[in-house]
Formats: sequence, C-alpha cells, structure tokens
Amino acid sequence: MIVRAIELDFWRNYLHLEASFSPTVNVICGDNAQGKTNLLEAVAYLSTASSHRARYDRELIQFGVDHAFLKAEVFSRQRDFTLEARLHRGQRRQLWSNGVKLRTAGELSGILTTVLFCPEDLNLIRAGAAERRRFLDECICQLRPRYAAALAEYRRLYEQKTRILRDWPDHPSLLDALDDFNLRMAQTGAILIHYRAHFIRKLAEYAPAVHRDFSGGREELSLRYETVKTVAHPEDPPKVLLPALLEHQETHRQAELDARQCLSGPHKDDLAVELDGVSAKQFASQGQTRTAALSLKLGAREIFFHDTGEWPVLLLDDVLSELDQRRQDFVLSRISGGQVFITCCEEEKAERLGDGRAFRIREGALV
Ligand code: ATP
Ligand code: MG
Repeated sequence: MIVRAIELDFWRNYLHLEASFSPTVNVICGDNAQGKTNLLEAVAYLSTASSHRARYDRELIQFGVDHAFLKAEVFSRQRDFTLEARLHRGQRRQLWSNGVKLRTAGELSGILTTVLFCPEDLNLIRAGAAERRRFLDECICQLRPRYAAALAEYRRLYEQKTRILRDWPDHPSLLDALDDFNLRMAQTGAILIHYRAHFIRKLAEYAPAVHRDFSGGREELSLRYETVKTVAHPEDPPKVLLPALLEHQETHRQAELDARQCLSGPHKDDLAVELDGVSAKQFASQGQTRTAALSLKLGAREIFFHDTGEWPVLLLDDVLSELDQRRQDFVLSRISGGQVFITCCEEEKAERLGDGRAFRIREGALV
C-alpha cells in the first residue's frame, strides 16, 4: 500500500498542503510544533476515520475555521484509490472512496491500512487494559469489517445495559429488558473474543520475534490473552463460546445489580505482556517498555502483510530520537519493504535513511 500524494485544507495547523511521497521512506523533519505529527495523523485518519490523539473530529479542524478537507491518492490491491474526508463543526464527517460516499468508516477497511507508532505508545505497556484493548481493536477493525461491525454493536449494547443497571433502582421495570441485552451482548461478545484470540495468537508469533532481534536475543517477550474466566478456548467459534459467556453473566448477575455496572464480558479483556516471564507493565525499564511497544506494533505490521499480501503504511512519530544507534539501525532494517513516514527533528538523521525523500515542515507548510 502506498500513499502517493496528499492534500490538506484547514487540517490542524495546515492552511493548505499538497505533497507527493516516495513509495519507500519519507522523512518529515522540522522543529517542534511545526506540524510533523499533524501530517502523520492526516494519513492515519484516512485509514480508519479516527485519530490517535483527538477524541472528537472537531479538534482536527483548524482553529477559527468551520471545516477541514483531506484527500489522498492511494495505490492498494493493484488499483488506484482517491480517498477523501470532509469534516464540519457540528456535523458528522463525510468520507468518499473514488467519489463514492461511504456509509461507515468500516468501508475504508482494507484500502489504506496503517500502523502508527508514537511516543504515547509507551502506554501500551504501562497503562491499564483499555489501552491494549484499543490497540487490538484498531488492528482487527482494519483487517476484518465483521469485527468492526460487532464492536460497534457491542459498544451500543454496553451503553444501554449500563443505563439499565444504573437506573433500575428508580425504574425497576427496566429490568424486563435485561435478559435480552445479556443474550445479545453474549452473542456479540463471543464474536469479539473469537477474533481477538486469533489475532493474539498471530501476534504472539510475530512480536516476540521482533523483540528478540531488537534485544540481540537477550530478552523474551510473551503475550497472553486474558478474557472472560469461563472461556476455556477463546479461539473456538462464537457459537461454542456463547454458553460460557452466558454462564459467566449468570454468576455475576447479582453483583452487576449491586454494583450497577456491567461486570461480565470482553469489555474487560486484556493482553498480558511479559518480558522474561515477568509483567512488563510492572517491571520493564524505560528502554524495555519502548522496545516492547515497538515490537507489538511491528508485529501487527507483519500480520497485516501476511493477511493482505501488502505492507501497511508505517507511520513512525519521534521514534529514532529515543533509541541508541544500534536500535535505530535495527528499526531501519526491519522496516524495509513497505512505505514509511518517519518524523524527526534533526536533519542529519534524515540523511542516514537512504533512498527516500525528505520533507521539511515549518509552521504548517512545506519548505
Ligand atoms: P513535535 O516535534 O513537538 O512533536 P510537531 O511538528 O509534531 O512537533 P504537531 O503536533 O504536528 O507538531 O503540532 C503542530 C502545531 O499544530 C501545534 O503548535 C499545535 O498547537 C497546532 N495545532 C493543533 N491542533 C490545531 C488546530 N485544530 N488548529 C490549529 N493548530 C493546531
Ligand atoms: Mg510531533
């Protein structure tokens, strides 16, 4: 997959930008706060219609302006695609692929897949389970539209069930609907667990291999899927998982009513990450944390490649600055193959990156 060119209007601090890119390495350099991350964010937005650092689309629109526009020329699956997104304050964003309006973000799936690594990804190791679920969801949604649909449905059911559990003491009749919600959440939840288990099995092959190379064979990364306790084999088909989920709900029924919260289901899943047999979250050093997080992302990139036959576009934000020479060289050799966008502050580093193109960004413009 290759982003040949991009056009931005009123995206973050860009008034207007038109740029065409190398199919190999693109180095985006510039001082702090000039728009390097904003450019990577624009590429990522066209793959999932969401941003890793904006909660609401309106944050992406330039201050004082009421709309933003993005367009990319993408080569994928041996075809050319024109992807467009239009954001409006107070309105839902609109997406087009080759001029055809898309109904959901899921329809973008498979056109432009991206893997982004940024400094905040240290949270993938350090923070709570929600960060790791988000990583899993982002990856699997890009690969499997059915998963994206199930996830959206599960979130909707979860919100409604949460409302029932919150309000039932004042409105006991709400409980009439609880069994129905439990059944639908278990059915949808079973789909999520099944897909997550398969993704994690593959990630548990690829990411440790990356980490082993990265650490010169000195450290062993291991991954384990933690889901609803009654599920013995999460990779089983959803139909087989369903009874275990219903059983878990049943034994937590009273606790849910007492706590007035959803306690049973894959919205509590985690991906346990260990280094040499101990929890990375609790014990990893700064460098180990960074390496482990990068290994997860590069592992996901390899899954995408094996799944689709094409390298996803790799977006590396501020990665090199934090690594020593040996690890920098390792990253640069590991990422050969697909298209890469890499941001950095110092220009001399850009020169070591070989045959790609370098771009200099100042105040939201190419110079
Ligand atoms: P660093 O090297 O520090 O990571 P950067 O080049 O990656 O810097 P960006 O994160 O891309 O910097 O941000 C550039 C600037 O964009 C910031 O000064 C920020 O205030 C500005 N900015 C962010 N959102 C908007 C917006 N909606 N409208 C206008 N400007 C914005
Ligand atoms: Mg930045």
